[in-house]
Amino acid sequence: MPTLLRINVEEHPHQLEWKDSQVPFFCDGCKELGFGLCYQCPNKGCNFILHEECGIGRPPTFLPFFNRCNFEFHKKNTLGGTRVCDGCALDIRGFLYQCSSRPNPHDLHPGCASLPSVFSLSDIDMEIYLREEISSKCLKCQSKKRSGKVQGWAYESSDGQFCYHVACMKEAWLQNWKKGYLQLNDIEESKKSLVLQNLAPKEVALRGKGQSSKSMKGVKWLIMFLKLVVSAIFGDPVSLIVNLFQISQM
Ligand SMILES: [Zn+2]
Ligand SMILES: [Zn+2]
Ligand SMILES: [Zn+2]
Ligand SMILES: [Zn+2]
Ligand SMILES: [Zn+2]
Repeated sequence: MPTLLRINVEEHPHQLEWKDSQVPFFCDGCKELGFGLCYQCPNKGCNFILHEECGIGRPPTFLPFFNRCNFEFHKKNTLGGTRVCDGCALDIRGFLYQCSSRPNPHDLHPGCASLPSVFSLSDIDMEIYLREEISSKCLKCQSKKRSGKVQGWAYESSDGQFCYHVACMKEAWLQNWKKGYLQLNDIEESKKSLVLQNLAPKEVALRGKGQSSKSMKGVKWLIMFLKLVVSAIFGDPVSLIVNLFQISQM
């Protein structure tokens, strides 16, 4: 589908413009954090903003793990009760994709419905896969499984060294945002370290002491992994991420 430069949505009286937001925002559709490509109200003082996918409401193109499902985009939960996202295991509070087939309906945040199932960075020979189960522990929660009925997905590097639950990344990034670490202008070195510490507490502590439990390819790889996963989950806020992960001394 070609990108639309302007759209009208029923939730808002003004026409929205397609933009590349360089600062994190809360989507007025799905109520989730985002940045990068979005639809934003151009009127001064009006902060209405939608993820690109929430603005267009396009049918999901590719959904891993749901071969038999038929997902549709909805602006409201059509099934009643609290819905939990099968991708990130967190509650859904706004726009969503829903597969209403019984007895096991499925739900996804629009952002989670467009998570890439694999991505790679050729210059460091690392591929990262979206998985339902992981073989090593998540860098944030230090566990393979999350508590709760819905497990959600995780990203895992091809060598199994780095894992991260999508839910844990969303929670950690939200904390970073709430603490004011994600301001684009003039990010202090100390804040960058705090962001990293919050994302991967144990790894950072071990590296700080010059030791590690596993054979590690260095902090560069850890940062590379985190960068890619953050971009995959939240859009691609290149300048923010490049800036944020440009850590001079580790
Ligand atoms: Zn949204
Ligand atoms: Zn407006
Ligand atoms: Zn289904
Ligand atoms: Zn989700
Ligand atoms: Zn985790």
